[in-house]
Amino acid sequence: MDYFPLFIKLDAKPCLVVGGGRVAFRKIGWLLKSKAAITIVAPSVCSEVGLLCGSGRVQWVEGSYTASAPEIQSYYLVIAATNDEQLNRDIADKAAAAGVHCNVASAADCGDVILPSIIDRSPVTIALHSGGKSPTITRYLKRQLEAFIPRHVSRLVAWAEKWRSAVKSGIDSSTRRQRFWDRLLSGVAAEHVMSDRSAAGDGILEQRLRKANSGLFEGEVFLVGAGPGDPELLTLKALRLIQQADVVLYDRLVSEPILELLPDSCERIYVGKRQADHALPQGDINQTLVDLAKQGRNVLRLKGGDPFIFGRGGEEIELLAENGVAFQVVPGITAASGCAAYSGIPLTHRDHSQSVRFVTGHLQSNEINLPWPELAATGQTLVFYMGLTGLKAICESLIKHGREPSTPAAVVERGTTPEQRVIVADLDTLADIVGSQEVRAPTLLIIGEVVQLHNKLSWYKSDG
Ligand code: SAH
Repeated sequence: MDYFPLFIKLDAKPCLVVGGGRVAFRKIGWLLKSKAAITIVAPSVCSEVGLLCGSGRVQWVEGSYTASAPEIQSYYLVIAATNDEQLNRDIADKAAAAGVHCNVASAADCGDVILPSIIDRSPVTIALHSGGKSPTITRYLKRQLEAFIPRHVSRLVAWAEKWRSAVKSGIDSSTRRQRFWDRLLSGVAAEHVMSDRSAAGDGILEQRLRKANSGLFEGEVFLVGAGPGDPELLTLKALRLIQQADVVLYDRLVSEPILELLPDSCERIYVGKRQADHALPQGDINQTLVDLAKQGRNVLRLKGGDPFIFGRGGEEIELLAENGVAFQVVPGITAASGCAAYSGIPLTHRDHSQSVRFVTGHLQSNEINLPWPELAATGQTLVFYMGLTGLKAICESLIKHGREPSTPAAVVERGTTPEQRVIVADLDTLADIVGSQEVRAPTLLIIGEVVQLHNKLSWYKSDG
């Protein structure tokens, strides 16, 4: 290691910033967060720094460094941020001679301090640097980490601190205590706390603590929407929960690139769900979730799209609720939103469609029992899920009940994936055109005037 990472309390310590431009401004911002006492030396300052000086939060000594420099040894830290490279180096030399820490913004090879890239979730703070070699990589890693560290982790810190001694006296073995915290912090209780519902978190903790010494750990279930296919469409929360999963139950709609995000240690249970291939009947899935949780496992129930839209998510958590298993639900981007966005078909549009309906096209005993007269009304967009098998019947019923045969209609095949294909026709012709091609599930049917916008707004082109 060329540099030792260290967190220093700057509270009221005198810090000197030489230079008053935008580079200086960025550094001053972080110093101010750390409550340093800041003096700036510069002949002129940019407007942002000017505002800080005006507000009295920093002191400005007007003039160039050599002419007006306050004695360098009276400072704890010096930051050389002028646009004169040689001057920055001179300042670094002077600081080194005076035994004062110095950072040079423009050159990694001089000064003895690096100001890292910072992720501030105080009191949790992450500092990142690449020895000044690649700010681009540092920025890239910072973005990745930022996405991964919960925004409100500070609430979790305060909560864990509040319970620390109770847990310590409640659980005697330190290994068991560590396991207790590990489970709690990756579970439902932590999610409650971070969403500012710490009473709910307290309840779970107290309940667990009572059972902890017996070695009985209660599991819990996260019902998580995985979106329509593109892993980039996962929510931050879904990604976090996927990356810490212990065991996962997933079905056919969860795409392979999303499954690749699961940790290697995670046990995978495929529960199927093609119309013809019910790998596990729904009742068994519901029961498996309860059983796994009762065994103390933290279960991720991963579902395509949104779990509450034609996803039977409600049924699955009903049984959990009845059995007193803790659970949370994380929404996902539903196929209608994903396919609409990636095919350039806005679901509503001021000129064409004032409402949108999500409808199931699933056939029950070879008939689709739907309120056809309502669905045939104009000015609305219809999105049929599970509509491929019944496509012909759907189009015919709409025409029969009064919707124009020329109404634009589209089938979006494997939306948001690299294999996405959009077939556009009208109510009269769509079924025949789709029938003449090899179309693979999952497919979504979108009907309404908005479909005509696809020609103009389509932006996602797949290679296939
Ligand atoms: N809960 C899911 C829907 C489950 S029902 C959601 O919110 O999206 C299954 C149906 O969803 C499929 O028959 C198909 O109509 C639709 N579907 C899901 N993913 C899709 C995709 N990537 N492209 C097209 N249709 C999709």
